[in-house]
Amino acid sequence: METTILIVEDEEKIARFLELELRHEGYQVVKASTGREGLALAESGKADLMVLDVMLPELNGFEVLRRLRRSSDMPVIMLTARDEVMDKVAGLDGGADDYMTKPFAIEELLARIRLVLKKRGTSGTKEEQALTYGELEMNLARHEVRYGGELVALTPREFDLLKVLLENKNIVVSRDTLLEKVCGYDYLGETNVIDVYVRYLRSKLDDVYHVKIIQTVRGVGYCIKD
Ligand code: CA
Repeated sequence: METTILIVEDEEKIARFLELELRHEGYQVVKASTGREGLALAESGKADLMVLDVMLPELNGFEVLRRLRRSSDMPVIMLTARDEVMDKVAGLDGGADDYMTKPFAIEELLARIRLVLKKRGTSGTKEEQALTYGELEMNLARHEVRYGGELVALTPREFDLLKVLLENKNIVVSRDTLLEKVCGYDYLGETNVIDVYVRYLRSKLDDVYHVKIIQTVRGVGYCIKD
């Protein structure tokens, strides 16, 4: 299975340049020139990763991302103009995996695409790979979580956290390990961030489906037990 990248960019020159470079790297490419078209293509599930410009006609990149995140955990790399520093913050808070500031070196974008795909486990060979727990199913290739067949919208970090716990079923995973796997070894923010993500996950799963999926092991960490 080939990896397909969706480019959402209204500047034709940039879009064409990206398309040529990505095809050269062996990716399949689909393009959209408006936010609305990009959102529709992203929601169709035909692409594995989206490169999303912020300044777009109809719907801007943030709005596309916000709407997409209601139903999809698809990897997204945002493109922002040089001075849109606040945009970067908003983009990452809004569930983007990474961002690039224009103008950028194509090699850097290619490297970040590879990194995001690797981190998300989309090498193109895991199409049917799934992690399950009762009615809960995580499809790694599609970046989808379903409960009883119903789609559950998770942010990238919530997804990563749940993935680590599912991969280590019946093993208590410490907060430090979770922090490193979910936020990266160089994470310098609040250390209670894992507790916050667990709370979000519980509000999206346990509270909605009246189950108890993630167990707290006091003073140690978290665990999903069979
Ligand atoms: Ca633009």
